[in-house]
Amino acid sequence: MKIIMLGAPGAGKGTRASLIAEHYGIPHISTGDIFRANLKAGTELGLEAKKYMDAGELVPDNLTVKILLDRVAQEDCTGGYVLDGFPRTINQAEVLEAELKKINDKIDFAIDVDVSDEVIEARMAGRRVCTKCSATYHIEYAPTKEEGICDKCGGEAVLRADDAPETVRQRLKVYHEQTQPLINFYKERGILRMVAGSGSIEDALTAVIEVLEQG
Ligand code: AMP
Repeated sequence: MKIIMLGAPGAGKGTRASLIAEHYGIPHISTGDIFRANLKAGTELGLEAKKYMDAGELVPDNLTVKILLDRVAQEDCTGGYVLDGFPRTINQAEVLEAELKKINDKIDFAIDVDVSDEVIEARMAGRRVCTKCSATYHIEYAPTKEEGICDKCGGEAVLRADDAPETVRQRLKVYHEQTQPLINFYKERGILRMVAGSGSIEDALTAVIEVLEQG
């Protein structure tokens, strides 16, 4: 099963993507995580991407598309994958569609996680991400057992620079302008499914699975 998670930054698509990936035993692919891993490793790609990420802007397609296509061409993706944070522009969606078509393949579902901007702004301020393993937490809804320490690996759980309030507002603006049109793109293809971005994490997985199994 090949799934795309849509939704504004902070809508909870990463959490859902990771639960779905675990449930179906397929990779969870986040372009944001790939950029952050590159930055940590000090690669040229990471340093270039950082300029855009810190400003709340999209990394240009010429950098983003290739890393994603290389990743989905890897062996572990043959049984499917969950894309989280890609595509973010119509151009990215078109390139992905064209590449998959070449190998007689396609995306099965695009799931839109729906949340209002106000809720997102409030949520992002409480978000914490492990600097070591990228596990995500929320100080209110999904706190670490020990404050600031990742439950999974003992790394440091911190507020990401691009989750700062002014950057979040810029990211939401970019989302509405460039990414939201993807909802119609996938609706036209008959593969768009909607889930609410509220509720508990357990309910979130149940809701997504229900939508996927209904076909
Ligand atoms: P995320 O972790 O998905 O919120 O991504 C963090 C940041 O990485 C975004 O705000 C963008 O700057 C960049 N990014 C991630 N995925 C993409 C993409 N598909 N296209 C352009 N920029 C991206």
